Amino acid sequence: MENLDRLALHTMTTKPWDLPTACAKYAAAGITGVGVWRQWLDGRPLAESKTILDDQGLGAVSLVRGGFFPHLNETDHREAHEDNVRALDQAAAIGAPQVVLVCGAKPEIPLVENRKQITEGISNLVNHASKVGVKLAIEPLHPMYADCRSAINTIGQCNDMIDQLGEDWVGIAADVYHIWWDPQLAQEIERAGKRIIGFHVCDWVTPTNDFLNDRGLMGEGCIDNRGIRQLVEATGFDGPIEVEIFSDHHWASDQDEYLEKIITAYRENV
Ligand code: ZN
Repeated sequence: MENLDRLALHTMTTKPWDLPTACAKYAAAGITGVGVWRQWLDGRPLAESKTILDDQGLGAVSLVRGGFFPHLNETDHREAHEDNVRALDQAAAIGAPQVVLVCGAKPEIPLVENRKQITEGISNLVNHASKVGVKLAIEPLHPMYADCRSAINTIGQCNDMIDQLGEDWVGIAADVYHIWWDPQLAQEIERAGKRIIGFHVCDWVTPTNDFLNDRGLMGEGCIDNRGIRQLVEATGFDGPIEVEIFSDHHWASDQDEYLEKIITAYRENV
């Protein structure tokens, strides 16, 4: 049976649990990696959150999330930049090696302009990323979110951007939910090579009743998680495999039983 060394959970996956509870439960289940959502850091000093992780022998594998670069005016522009700088600082403080970027989009702005603002926004962060030693992981989002969540929708787009931005401090978080449909997936993952620095798993269920909060456990839907894992690992990726599931259905269930199901689904389907 595959051990759990590579398995990491996003705190959002077990949304009902706060950081201390999630850390205690994950550690008891033999999980060592946590994708920390920023809301889980609220209400206590960063050092205290780090201690909560450390005390359970857990490591933060990612901080989720920065991004949302497109802006309608200079105030929004400045605030977006400052928030991303803050995210990099938070990641450094809790020992997370990367900030996952959901790049954003504004329906009021042409798609081309959204994408230009995103590239500029990331470019403006590279210096600070290098200063604090935290990478920027661009997560392409499924094109159904291109209106208001992200105008970056494929690994190919990420590769084109990183060709411009340089790859020392900018990489790609490949989330199966967003990329599984892409006919260029295999070629673009191969082209990405060591730029792939994050790998997120879940499943696409049919019918999908809510396009945000109806993700499935690996094996509940049509995504070839194991096949995509093999593509990603063929690049040399040997980092954490992050389970990231938003699901009103699963959040409403007993979270202890759900955690067991996640581990089984990881072993059987990833
Ligand atoms: Zn993700």
